[in-house]
Amino acid sequence: MSDIIRRDPRAEWIARNRLHPLHAAMQTQQTRWMGPNGLIRKNPHAIAAGFIGPAGLKRIDRSGAQQGTGVGGRRTAAAEVQLPLHQVPAPAFYIAVVPDMVGGRLSSHDRDLLGLAHGLAGNDGAVLAVVFGEHKESNFSTAGVDRLLVLEGEAFEGYAPEQLVQGLRAVDNQFTPRHWLLPDSRTGGGELGRRLGAALGERPATRVWQVKDGQCIGRAGAGQQDLQRAVPRLILGAAECAEPVSDTRHEALPVELSTSVVRSLSRIEDLGSVAVDPATIAMAEAEFIVSGGNGVKDWDLYHKATAALGATEGASRVAVDDGFMPRNRQVGATGTWVTARVYVAVGISGAIQHLQGIGACDKVVAINMDPGCDMIKRADLSVIGDSSAILQALIEAVDNFRSVGQRDAA
Ligand SMILES: Cc1cc2nc3c(=O)[nH]c(=O)nc-3n(C[C@H](O)[C@H](O)[C@H](O)COP(=O)(O)OP(=O)(O)OC[C@H]3O[C@@H](n4cnc5c(N)ncnc54)[C@H](O)[C@@H]3O)c2cc1C
Repeated sequence: MSDIIRRDPRAEWIARNRLHPLHAAMQTQQTRWMGPNGLIRKNPHAIAAGFIGPAGLKRIDRSGAQQGTGVGGRRTAAAEVQLPLHQVPAPAFYIAVVPDMVGGRLSSHDRDLLGLAHGLAGNDGAVLAVVFGEHKESNFSTAGVDRLLVLEGEAFEGYAPEQLVQGLRAVDNQFTPRHWLLPDSRTGGGELGRRLGAALGERPATRVWQVKDGQCIGRAGAGQQDLQRAVPRLILGAAECAEPVSDTRHEALPVELSTSVVRSLSRIEDLGSVAVDPATIAMAEAEFIVSGGNGVKDWDLYHKATAALGATEGASRVAVDDGFMPRNRQVGATGTWVTARVYVAVGISGAIQHLQGIGACDKVVAINMDPGCDMIKRADLSVIGDSSAILQALIEAVDNFRSVGQRDAA
């Protein structure tokens, strides 16, 4: 494993949250400190400084080999804390979730929905995730999935909503879920959910942001009003409709359909994806944004890097005010609020007005010289260094990657 120090935002969050069941486990135990008279004191009881001997007695490890917690003494939620396993051996009922799986992985919206499903399942029900096609996700168990049904095959590839609905109908016949949950998103779930509602004859609750006491509340009237109704069988949830699962591990046991899905005669022909110029994508809809701020010293290099990466360009207000970027590219409170899956902030300090605009982004990458700046605190991944050097290295990495790909294809 690499020795690069990586932050674990989840572990940090648990360590801060005193109400979390794993809070105590995430506190570092002080094993050595300097006493008032300057002497180094050791705590022989700290587990990190010892081990349990064969007779069950705690022994002090004088070699120091076992000192510290993990690489560099860091705590990581996944490596060290075994979350309690939530098991449902014989589910009384199912709550089915159809995550969007954009890019083959669970998005934060998908995880919110799984959190909602976990709440609806309680202790007797099981959360059944239905995933179409190949995926790259390895964390279904910590996202709250009790049963995992993967429907693969040519029929489900590309844009095939009619075929997906056929698959979901087969799931409905076999598992008869108490509730169906889909993300009310533009990346698939919104459309699929409405089609499923029509196929099952269920009236879905849309843009639901709260489910409580048998009632659900969703946005309506062009987002101006709330609509409350009894929880229906089909729920299309908004982002942040519930807290994602964070304190239990689930089995994610694979299940299969007992019948094969009938291939429907599609009225839709998928002609494949169309390449678009990232510069023409509206900021609010862009999936991948690379924004430049006052820390960008070579703007030609920045444009070259965004073109090489195929990213949509964004900017901080300072970059716009200084005339390096057009006003319509400004991200933030007085610019555009973006919802990218990946947001790269190059030389942007992370002022609150800028952070407000990226609150809904999934993954934030910061490139900055200052390791203490607020953008780095917000980021999921940080690269500390000069923006020009890093942009240049990125361009070279992309060029290498493409030339290897072309060589392999030839
Ligand atoms: C009413 C109001 C509304 C506002 N609305 C917005 C808004 O919508 N959007 C917005 O962005 N701002 C907005 N602002 C401005 C905001 O407060 C900040 O001033 C602005 O976001 C700072 O931009 P910056 O991070 O690019 O610049 P700076 O704050 O100057 O930060 C530059 C960063 O680059 C780093 N850096 C420097 N050199 C390098 C290098 N060579 N390589 C790598 N990193 C380097 C520095 O460490 C620093 O972190 C608003 C302000 C007000 C008062």
